[in-house]
Amino acid sequence: MPRIAGHLQAEELELYCLGGLTEVRCARLEEHLLLCEICRDRLTETESYVAVMRQASRQWSAEHVEAPAAAVIAIRPWRESWPGRLAPMLVAALLVVCAAVWFGRHSRVPAPPFAIELTAVRGAAPGPAPAGYPLLLELDLTGLSEGRPFAGEVVDASGRRVAEFPVGAPALLKALAPGGYFVRIYKSSGELLREYALTVKR
Ligand SMILES: [Zn+2]
Repeated sequence: MPRIAGHLQAEELELYCLGGLTEVRCARLEEHLLLCEICRDRLTETESYVAVMRQASRQWSAEHVEAPAAAVIAIRPWRESWPGRLAPMLVAALLVVCAAVWFGRHSRVPAPPFAIELTAVRGAAPGPAPAGYPLLLELDLTGLSEGRPFAGEVVDASGRRVAEFPVGAPALLKALAPGGYFVRIYKSSGELLREYALTVKR
């Protein structure tokens, strides 16, 4: 049982959705999300919550901002109406800013995958892959026709598995956090056949 203390804080997830985390904290959080299904589900919930807040702000704007402000001011003295009108206005403005930041951060999610060709030639490491993009691995399986099908996995520098994929068709991986990785190809019997180095850079 994973300890709850090891999971991401609710405030961290909210800040992440609103684009309020530093690059370093973002990377750490995304690394955890890659490995933790529980927190991925919680992120989905947080994203829905942020979307609801955005919708509420939009409705508020439609009802209040477009109303003829001059008429309201004419009915009540300016000093009396000003603080009451300002607070919801600030909240709405803040929500709009948050939504804009959130969209800015997440508009890169459907980015096209970045293709990486891993060749069988020793020492021919591919150039660095960009962080934040799905990766399309094209594996050169020359000389590995025996014992199909193979299984593939991606491990990070400390040997932790971060992705697995069936070998044969080009493998589409989720975006990886910056760092050094190894792509390994196994025989169905579990024997390691080939290992490729992969670097992901921001
Ligand atoms: Zn977690």
